[in-house]
Amino acid sequence: MKIMTETWGQFKSFEGKQFKTFDAEFTQKVSNLLGGQDLTACFQCAKCSAGCPVSDKVNIQVHELMRMLLFGLEEVLETDMVWLCTTCYTCQERCPQGIDITDIIFGLKNMAFQKGITPAGYISARQSLYDKGRLYEPTDWEREDLELDDVPELDVNEIKKMLESTKLMKLQETE
Ligand code: SF4
Ligand code: SF4
Repeated sequence: MKIMTETWGQFKSFEGKQFKTFDAEFTQKVSNLLGGQDLTACFQCAKCSAGCPVSDKVNIQVHELMRMLLFGLEEVLETDMVWLCTTCYTCQERCPQGIDITDIIFGLKNMAFQKGITPAGYISARQSLYDKGRLYEPTDWEREDLELDDVPELDVNEIKKMLESTKLMKLQETE
């Protein structure tokens, strides 16, 4: 699983890292996200990280991610924690301060995506969904092996219409 973290995510460690500035505006921006209202209540107990199922796969633990947010460090968007989070909500359930941690991470994913900081697999999945209406295209021979009918026809234009209405395909660098 380590390979996964090595293929993307520029921020891998605090060691030797020099931060240019602590950006209070960034903290405020995250506080304004859905679920971000209690962000500053974090007192770094690390209970979130203690229950996180991907804690042994990530470079930055979730309580460290929260610390970065409190310090207004936008580099947080380049941490693998943002994308390796499975959105299981364990941290959110465990937080003694009632912080909506998982919801905040959803927001960070969106922010990272808009800045083009996204694992390649997510980009190709989005494109595949748009072009073919599926994330994975089953082949006829696979279905034949299972004695199933041919792959049903799909109206890709309907899928495109739905995706266009969500503006998913327009998400890109906005700043
Ligand atoms: S469990 Fe809550 S209070 Fe504790 S470090 Fe995590 S976010 Fe902060
Ligand atoms: S929601 Fe994400 S960060 Fe929170 S415990 Fe689950 S995997 Fe870890």
